[in-house]
Amino acid sequence: MKLRKVFLILVISFTLIFTALAVDFKEGKTYNGFKLLKKEKISEVDSTGYLFEHVKTGARLFKLQNDNENKAFSIAFKTIPYSDNGIAHVMEHSVLCGSRKYPVKSPFEVLSKGSMKTFLNAMTGSDMTSYPVASTNDKEFKNLMDVYLDAVFFPNIHENNMILKQEGWHYELNSPEDELKVNGIVYNEMKGALSSPGSLLWNKTMSALYPMNTYKYESGGEPEAIKTITQQEFEEFHSKFYHPSNSYIYLYGEGNLNEELKIINKDFLSKFSKKDVGSGITEQKTFDKPKEEEYYYSISKREDKNNKIYYSMGWMINESDNLQLELAFQILNNVLINSTGAPLKTAILENNLGKDVGSYFYDSIKQPMFYLEINNSSLEKKEKVKETIQNTLKDLVKNGIDNKRLRAAIKQYEFKLREADFGSFPKGLAYGFNMIYDWKFGTSPFESLKYEDRLAQIKKNIDTDYFENIVEKYLLNNNHRVFVTLKPQKGLLAEKRKERKEKLQKMKENMSKKELNKIIAENKKLKEYQSKQDDPEDLKKLPLLKLSDIDKSVKKYPVKEEMIKGRKLYTYLTDTNKIAYVRLMFDVNSVPEKKLQYIPLLTYLLEKLDTKNYSYRELDTEMKMYTGGISVYRATHFINNNYDNYRPVVGLSGKSMIEDSSKMMDLMIEIAKNTKFENKERIGRLISKLRSQEERQMGHRGFRVAFDRLQSNLSQYGIYNEKTSGFSYLQFLRKIDNKYSKNSKEVINNLKEIYKNLFHRDNLKISLVTEEKYYNETKDSIASIIEELNGRKIKKHEYKLRKDKKNEAIASSGTRVQYVLKGSNYRNLGIEYTGKMNVVSQILSRDYLHNKIREIGGAYGGFGGFTKNGMFYAGSYRDPSLDSTLKVINNIPEYLKDFKASDREMRRYIIGRISRFSQPRSPRAEGDFAINLKIENTTHEERQKIKNEMLDTTVEDVRSYSKKLEKILKNSIISVYGNTDKVEKNKKYFDEIIYFSK
Ligand SMILES: [Zn+2]
Repeated sequence: MKLRKVFLILVISFTLIFTALAVDFKEGKTYNGFKLLKKEKISEVDSTGYLFEHVKTGARLFKLQNDNENKAFSIAFKTIPYSDNGIAHVMEHSVLCGSRKYPVKSPFEVLSKGSMKTFLNAMTGSDMTSYPVASTNDKEFKNLMDVYLDAVFFPNIHENNMILKQEGWHYELNSPEDELKVNGIVYNEMKGALSSPGSLLWNKTMSALYPMNTYKYESGGEPEAIKTITQQEFEEFHSKFYHPSNSYIYLYGEGNLNEELKIINKDFLSKFSKKDVGSGITEQKTFDKPKEEEYYYSISKREDKNNKIYYSMGWMINESDNLQLELAFQILNNVLINSTGAPLKTAILENNLGKDVGSYFYDSIKQPMFYLEINNSSLEKKEKVKETIQNTLKDLVKNGIDNKRLRAAIKQYEFKLREADFGSFPKGLAYGFNMIYDWKFGTSPFESLKYEDRLAQIKKNIDTDYFENIVEKYLLNNNHRVFVTLKPQKGLLAEKRKERKEKLQKMKENMSKKELNKIIAENKKLKEYQSKQDDPEDLKKLPLLKLSDIDKSVKKYPVKEEMIKGRKLYTYLTDTNKIAYVRLMFDVNSVPEKKLQYIPLLTYLLEKLDTKNYSYRELDTEMKMYTGGISVYRATHFINNNYDNYRPVVGLSGKSMIEDSSKMMDLMIEIAKNTKFENKERIGRLISKLRSQEERQMGHRGFRVAFDRLQSNLSQYGIYNEKTSGFSYLQFLRKIDNKYSKNSKEVINNLKEIYKNLFHRDNLKISLVTEEKYYNETKDSIASIIEELNGRKIKKHEYKLRKDKKNEAIASSGTRVQYVLKGSNYRNLGIEYTGKMNVVSQILSRDYLHNKIREIGGAYGGFGGFTKNGMFYAGSYRDPSLDSTLKVINNIPEYLKDFKASDREMRRYIIGRISRFSQPRSPRAEGDFAINLKIENTTHEERQKIKNEMLDTTVEDVRSYSKKLEKILKNSIISVYGNTDKVEKNKKYFDEIIYFSK
């Protein structure tokens, strides 16, 4: 074992020396058209940084060279909006619709459905658009770079005006008698995105705060403005901004730098010359006095208007590129508002001025913004809200900010930097995104990434007036601030829709026959373009790996399983950078069925209440001081991948540096054993806050709501899940929140009872992820805390949750789009899970449903497939239609019956799905994943079998699913979350319609 490790290290250092010897990069010299400006080690990110300038075009390039196999690349352009037309956003979608070398309808779709990528996407920000990719496969990484570079520099948007119509907007009219409509992918996407009060409030604050520059515009696009974009304007926007002189290129990982430079220069940058792009941003002049604004948002006719006022305060921080100040604001953001017991948050909540408070420091723009938002307030509290904000700030400046809280917040920030856990998001891209926010305004990437000095400096400042001075100067005495009130108005959305409809109708009436026929003809052309298959010869131009380029084995995850103090401990040892990750997992079955809905509420309350030894504020500070965080979470394990064999758990999950691990476990026990439920008022406030959060989130998580409903009609687990996180749970919260003043005693007694039964030694399993050398000491601290837990015998319950299979819809007037789902439990129909199902899912999601629902139907997404736990589902996301989507789904068996694919196409489907299985994970995520596999009884052999089955899938296998899906769909039910009018118009599909706002 040891020998193998040494051997590995030798191999790695040998490769490093080898590549370093191949090209010895020297400052001032030029490599493949790029002049090296600076080279330096950056220990904060374990890399050597190389900063280049492309001689011919002035393009900037920065590489972080290291031994990470998950290589990353991104190219970004400054794209400055000049109106609300969202042109940058439409462009982001459109350049991925075919290019010079790759003239297919959507190279992006082809690659996302079939490449060994670990990341592939594109995003539009307030002043920048970026195109990031990542892959662990060397060959694939270079392929992806090439396709993306060709897309951004030589897209087909100039030759093909169908692209703007499809991705942006177009008039929809199929015959002269039809109603004239507007359709388009970004048009529809933004219709869904801007309907929530939260995003409206943010947008209005930005536009009030930056009236002189580009930040007053919605870079995603306002639907009404999107439909003003012309083809000429669109092409000009591309020619202006998508130029090397306006680009920022970033590379990360073990790849050969010289080869990477060559790819970028040869076919792309060398074809351009330097140009002055003019992508500067006008500076916003400061206000003489604070501003106030008022706006409206829409609620349905059924909703009542009480407590529906939203307030925000935005401060412009008139400093560019001040990294030290930005760090200070990140800390202040946490200390003042975004933590338990934070003074500004407490002042708002305890004076009943709102149900929830949040804040954000937005530093990726030229002059940053500090943003504060208050939800669910009322109009008569307005003056009090403003006063409370000012007085609290005044008080903090006068009496000082709690040093211990500052210290704790900094320590937690530091933990995050050292841990560098970005989940499944590639580390290289996480570093790159943060860096580019500063780089685009001129800060050197080296300075941006080297955080140690800034951190040391900020620690020194704790005992001075540094933070108080910042609060005084940039918040309290800053006149460049705006206070926004957002009021509810019944039926505003419907009114606007009606207006739009009438406008279109009038427009149509005023059109000559010739004009109408022109629209009809263009529509026909677009439909033809959309339903035309790509030329197979063109498709072959897109790079595709061979199956032999792919690792066929499934990674092994050795998990140690043992008993300590009578409880099961699962351990996974890996390199964690001196961190211990511990999960205490408690089986839920000690809670009676009637009280299951209290579980998520309890989960939410813990760590926010006083305990025997700490006030809730002290507890929060202690956690930050000694841990990277302790959270209470809910999860479900499916034994042998069976939906009906589910084990819900409530867990306490903590992470800390090894030297603090026993302190962390003490804190976990404090939460699990010593929480006090005495503070009736605080519990009441937290319930209201939780309700308001869920209310808001559920409002724009329509897909989740519909999916939970669907599952709840199909399996025992589904019912449990819906009861504890779906719409039923929201209804439960509404009920106890509304009656809290009368029923607080009952609520608290229930909480106490399930708390006592849940966190009990007999229910406990433990999971540990750490480094081998710290295993023994961590295990000892775990052993000692087990004994601390209650140990008396408790009753275990078996749940017999009632299933009622029915077609239902949740109707809300707060949404303009639908989430349409249909599905069934296939295992109950005698069909077993195999790896081939994954390939069928891939084909349905990436081809059939994607095509019919997204590209033709105009929805944001269309997808479907089999889950390994026994469920089949198909559906749409942000969908303008309802019944046509159901028809598309019902046609799946027909589509599969005649399914055809060349060997090459089959290979792409398989690769697309397999790539999910080789996604790199952070040490914590890998450990948790490995241990969950063990708990769920999924063996390495089973996982290998699934992978083999996927690799062997043939066209005939896919066709054989036609019959199976016929049976499944016959037994399927429908679940929809959507616009009230739309749902009511389609009521024939539903056994029941539930109104969201009741
Ligand atoms: Zn988009």
